[in-house]
Amino acid sequence: MAEKECGFAPLVFRLHGGAPLVVREVLLERGWEEYDEDEQEEGDWNLYWRSSGFRNSDYKNILPWQRLNHHLKMTHITHKDYLARHLRRMKSAFGAALYDFSPAAFILPNEYTKFLGVYTKNRTTDGGKSCYWICKPVHLSRGRGIFLFKDIKDLVYDSSVIIQRYISNPLLISGYKFDLRIYVCVKSFCPLVIYMHQEGLVRFATEKYTLASLDNLYSHLTNTSINKFGLCYAMDKERVGRGCKWTMSKFRSFLHKQDINELLLWHRISNIITLTLLAAVPCIPSNPNCLELLGFDILIDSSYKPWLLEVNHSPALSLDCPADVTVKKGLINDIIDLMNYRMMDGFRQKEDLRKRYTRSGRWYLKPQIPLLPKTLHATPSGNRSWNRSISTSSSSQDTVLCSVNDCARNNSRYASRPVHPNSKSTMCSGHEKAPQKLEKMNIEVESDDLKLTTLNSTRQAHRNTPSSVFKLPSLHIHKLKSPTVPWNRRTQDRDIPPCRVGDFILTFPFNEATWKASQDQVDVKAIVNEVRKLTNRLGSSFNEKKRTKADSSQSCNAVRDKFEFLLWGPKDPPLLSECYSSNSETK
Ligand code: ADP
Repeated sequence: MAEKECGFAPLVFRLHGGAPLVVREVLLERGWEEYDEDEQEEGDWNLYWRSSGFRNSDYKNILPWQRLNHHLKMTHITHKDYLARHLRRMKSAFGAALYDFSPAAFILPNEYTKFLGVYTKNRTTDGGKSCYWICKPVHLSRGRGIFLFKDIKDLVYDSSVIIQRYISNPLLISGYKFDLRIYVCVKSFCPLVIYMHQEGLVRFATEKYTLASLDNLYSHLTNTSINKFGLCYAMDKERVGRGCKWTMSKFRSFLHKQDINELLLWHRISNIITLTLLAAVPCIPSNPNCLELLGFDILIDSSYKPWLLEVNHSPALSLDCPADVTVKKGLINDIIDLMNYRMMDGFRQKEDLRKRYTRSGRWYLKPQIPLLPKTLHATPSGNRSWNRSISTSSSSQDTVLCSVNDCARNNSRYASRPVHPNSKSTMCSGHEKAPQKLEKMNIEVESDDLKLTTLNSTRQAHRNTPSSVFKLPSLHIHKLKSPTVPWNRRTQDRDIPPCRVGDFILTFPFNEATWKASQDQVDVKAIVNEVRKLTNRLGSSFNEKKRTKADSSQSCNAVRDKFEFLLWGPKDPPLLSECYSSNSETK
C-alpha cells in the first residue's frame, strides 16, 4: 500500500496531540507509518497534522517533501470578528448585492453604539416583531456561550462578542432546523486554488424549531456538541431519524424529491466560499507545502438562500455516528490525494542528505547528488522515451527505480518498477554525473503509475552540466490523479488544477480569466468581477424554462473554455458549461 502511495519507502505522518484519530486511521490504512520521535530524525516525515496552528519556525524549516495541514494566519477568516470585518470591507468595496450572504454583524463592545442604532431602527420600523439577534463569544466555538435575544435588555456579555442578525426563517425538515457543514480545501493561496468537497454533513437541531422559546438551544443551535446531549438525540425523529446528522448525499436526494434546483444552490454556496476566501487572501502568506481544510457553516433559509454563519479552522473530525464515518474517512483520503504526494516524497533522506540542502528562498540540492536523473534513449521503435532512475547515497535506501516504456499504452506513458541497485540495467547507467535542473524539465510523476510525460530541450541542455543547480521539482504541481475527469482532457495547459480529486470539486479558478488573475499576486478585483459575470450568466440560465437536451448539448459545444469545472450533483456532477443555456452564452 505504501508503495502504491509513493512508489518507495512508506510515507511518514506526524500527529500532534489532539489531532483527529481518523487521520491516523486513514493514513495507516494507506500504508503510511507514524513518526516516532525517538527513532526517527527530525525531518524524517512527510505530513505533520495539527488541530491547532503551527509555529512560525515550522514553516521556516519545512523541507521539500513535507506538508503541513495549516497555512499561516488563517485566523483572518476563522475568527468570528476578523471574518465579520473582512466581509464588511468587501461589501463596501464590491457592493452589497454580491456580499449579501452573511448576516449583519457587530463586534462588541467596540461597536455597541453602531448596533444600538440598527437595533433601534428595526424596533421603530416594524415594532421589532421580526428581528432576532444571536450573540456569540468571539473566541469560543462549538456553540459555547451562545444565546438568542430579541430585546436589548437581555443582552449581557462579559467578553468580546459578535452580535449577528438571527436568520429566523430557516429551511426546516419536518420542523427541525439544520445547517450544512461544507468541507473546503484551500490547496494554495497564490495561485488561489480552492476545492469544495461534494460530501459534507447536514447537522440538525434535535427539537422542533420555534421562536416561542429562544432559550431552547436544542431547537436553535445545530452544533452536534450540544445536540448530542439533548433528550431527543437518540429518538427516531420524523424524517430526520436518530441522532442529528445526515450525509450530504442524503440531503441531495431529499432536495431531488422536493424538485429543488440544487445546482443553483451549489453554485451560490461555491460563490460564498470563493468570495469569503477572497476577503482574506491578501493577508495570508502562500506556502506551497501547506494546505488548509476548512469547515464552512451554511444555513439555508426558507427561500433557499444560503447564508454563511462562520468558517471553522480544523473542523471536527471525530467519528460520532455512521454519517461521520462515511463522510470524514472519505474526506481525509481525498485530502491526502489532493496533497499530491509523489514518489520522490518517499525519499526523505536522512541527515546526510539534509545537509546537502541549502536554503536560499527555495530548497536546492547540491549538484553532486544525482537524485532523479533521467536519460533519454531511443526505443527499438524509434520513439523517444525517458528512463528514470533514482539513487541515493544512503546505503539502506540504495534503490534504483527504472521506468519501463509501456509502448502498448502510449509513447509518453511509462510503467515503473523498482529494481535492485546492483541491477546491470543499461537503462540506468551514466546518471552519476548528470545532475539536472528538474523544475525546468517540467517533470510529471503521478504517484500510482509513475507516468513521466513531458520533456523539453532544457532538460537535454542541462543533462551534462555538472555545475547546474539541481533543483527539486515544486511540490505544488497542480496535476493530480482525477478519477472522474482525467487531467488535461481537453487542454494542453499543464498548470491548471484538475476539476476533481476524489470528491473534491474544483471551485476556484473557474475560468481562464480567474486562473490568470490569481497567479503572481491575486487580483481580487478582477476575480470578483468574474464571479459577478458568472453569477449573472448562471442566473439568467437557471431562470429559463427547462431546456431540452438538444439545447444543452448545443450550449456545451458553444463554451470554449479550458475549464471544465463541475457543479454539485448526486454522483457525477455535470460540467458547469452544461448548465449554461445557449441564450446566456450569447450575452
Ligand atoms: P460556534 O463556532 O460556536 O459553533 P456558530 O456561529 O457556528 O458558532 O453558531 C452555532 C450555531 O448557531 C450554528 O450552527 C447555527 O445553528 C446557529 N446560528 C449561528 N448564527 C446564526 C444566525 N445568524 N442565524 C441563525 N442561526 C445561527
